[in-house]
Amino acid sequence: MKNPQNELIQEFAELCRSVGWKFTPARFAVWRYLRGNTEHPVVDRVWENVKLELPKISRESVFRILSDFAERGLIAMMDRPNVLARFDANPKRHDHFYCSKCGRVFDFEIENLETLLPEAAVKIGSVEHVETRIRGVCRECLQTAEKQEVA
Ligand SMILES: [Zn+2]
Ligand SMILES: [Zn+2]
Repeated sequence: MKNPQNELIQEFAELCRSVGWKFTPARFAVWRYLRGNTEHPVVDRVWENVKLELPKISRESVFRILSDFAERGLIAMMDRPNVLARFDANPKRHDHFYCSKCGRVFDFEIENLETLLPEAAVKIGSVEHVETRIRGVCRECLQTAEKQEVA
């Protein structure tokens, strides 16, 4: 029988080897929490979850690990590059929909967005990252609002 926990440990151990890191329980816990995570969590959210397993870990340690991951391109640091930053488990180029009601951030993707670069941006300098940010109200929040109106 395959043990999923062991498989994750192996996967992360290989990753550590490939980037020259030591395997530490803290790094593993952060990585495992973020793996496949689509929530775009802020540091506190990651910290809360990692603490369930490593109660003594500090917020600073979690932030440092997240920053290391982001520096290596394993995840992406979103705006506000400080302790309030959100982290995206998906480092590949994609776009975001910010719900102004619940605060969640949803992923979507505009294909070939790079080729649609406005000339005005290119004139300013060399472009390294392109991301569309849409703010609105997500379907779930819209439905909740509808129900409240009916009630
Ligand atoms: Zn919402
Ligand atoms: Zn994202």
